[in-house]
Amino acid sequence: MARAQTITQVKKTGEFDLIIIGGGASGMGAALDASLKGLKVLLVEGSDFAKSTSSKSTKLIHGGVRYLAQLDIGLVKEALKEREVLLNIAPDLTHKQLFVIPTKTIFKKLYYFFGLWLYDRLSQNASLGKTKWLSSTQVSSFLGGLKHSQCKAGGVGYYDGQFDDSALIIRLAQHAEKNGGLVLNYTRATSIDFKDNKVSHVCLKDELTGESYRVKTKCILNATGIWADDFLTQNNINSKKTIRASKGSHVVINSAIKAALMVPKTQDGRVLFAIPWKKKTILGTTDIPVDKKELEPCITTNEIDFILSHYNEYFNQSISNKDILSVFSGLRPLVSPRRNKKTKKISRKHIIENHNNGIISVMGGKWTIFRIMAHQSIGEVEKYLKKTISKDLSKRYKLEELYPPKKNKTDNINNLVKYSYVQKTEDVLFRRLRTAFLDAKNAKKEASEITDILAKIFSWSETKKETELLEFNTLIKNYIA
Ligand SMILES: Cc1cc2nc3c(=O)[nH]c(=O)nc-3n(C[C@H](O)[C@H](O)[C@H](O)COP(=O)(O)OP(=O)(O)OC[C@H]3O[C@@H](n4cnc5c(N)ncnc54)[C@H](O)[C@@H]3O)c2cc1C
Repeated sequence: MARAQTITQVKKTGEFDLIIIGGGASGMGAALDASLKGLKVLLVEGSDFAKSTSSKSTKLIHGGVRYLAQLDIGLVKEALKEREVLLNIAPDLTHKQLFVIPTKTIFKKLYYFFGLWLYDRLSQNASLGKTKWLSSTQVSSFLGGLKHSQCKAGGVGYYDGQFDDSALIIRLAQHAEKNGGLVLNYTRATSIDFKDNKVSHVCLKDELTGESYRVKTKCILNATGIWADDFLTQNNINSKKTIRASKGSHVVINSAIKAALMVPKTQDGRVLFAIPWKKKTILGTTDIPVDKKELEPCITTNEIDFILSHYNEYFNQSISNKDILSVFSGLRPLVSPRRNKKTKKISRKHIIENHNNGIISVMGGKWTIFRIMAHQSIGEVEKYLKKTISKDLSKRYKLEELYPPKKNKTDNINNLVKYSYVQKTEDVLFRRLRTAFLDAKNAKKEASEITDILAKIFSWSETKKETELLEFNTLIKNYIA
């Protein structure tokens, strides 16, 4: 639905059952779940859908080999089950991916083989393929250019899932709408009004026009990711938990690897991965705790140096800054009981907290289990609304493509604007076409053409066009190394 039409519809609706605040994986999953369960639901996102953490993930649908090492067996099993569900309900946005761990000694090879055999066993009948015992020749054929010294004992291969994160958010939004829900990007929830200690209205601000308006609702789902605790504090609501942000950074390069490289422990104990994605390769390492919560966190020179130098320890052909196509960082929302815990030790488990005043918060978790988080959050909402708790309806709901894009590029963008909630140049190049994540300099080159197309569609003035392009050019700098 066009944004203006949605706004009219929102203002016409007397009262919503539920307003979801936050259009990332947690919020958008809940919007689909609520609409499938027949609730009158509106989702609002302060910027573009998936603009924050949910477009900056490593794009894995996985149980998490690292969490297995931390013996978080329940979390791994649950996520592995979900991996199968997502591959089944969204086959065009997900696929399986072979990962290879190269090993230098037979002891390490046995250790990883056993661990990954267990990982595969935990998926029960949702296995994506057996764990492989690989010779060094096989490892080299999967990971072209890998130094022989790094795989003297061969390696171990295993399968996990991969996906396009922001594309899945848009698909969820389209299906939420198809089932009667409303979704609005660039709409910020600024405050909450209470009546008799229960939620009565949410005050919304249209970030594109500056207009503010109030909308009546029985319930609110706080799905604001790293800002979940700040949002509660701003509205004078106590929470038992705090959110710690943990920053993960990625470097994107061209490379010829056929499988993903996973090094669970580099010499200094951190992870190194190199994962093929949309014909490029994403490099990354372990998250680090950060204090500042920001929508567009930047990679630091230290992080780039760490990733490049460790990549160079593994591959014959060294890479440097000039080989980097793009860089991006995201902040993981971790639910923390204590402020001084190391982020890698804090569990990736999600929590759903009912504040007993019509506000429910969903915090933490990970992309892979967004559907379970959604089902449980909406279960809490149904409980609060004194409705019967519905079955898990999204488990078998096919997220099929509703709006096939046309071949012609100009037309295709017209389609993006019409069907995928595009409002700004960055929406197209970051989260619809993904160009900025794959090749930031190329995205910069395309920005002017995209802005011209949007200007025609939205009847932008010359000044608005210039501002839009300037904003884009400022943002893209963070993605160029
Ligand atoms: C580097 C990195 C790699 C990751 N890789 C993986 C992976 O490979 N696989 C996996 O399963 N998980 C992964 N994760 C975890 C996963 O990405 C996150 O758990 C998930 O995206 C969090 O989604 P969210 O909806 O809770 O938060 P977000 O995506 O941050 O969404 C919250 C939204 O709320 C909005 N908001 C905040 N306040 C307001 C307001 N007042 N009004 C309106 N809107 C508001 C924000 O703008 C934001 O868009 C990764 C995380 C990181 C950081």
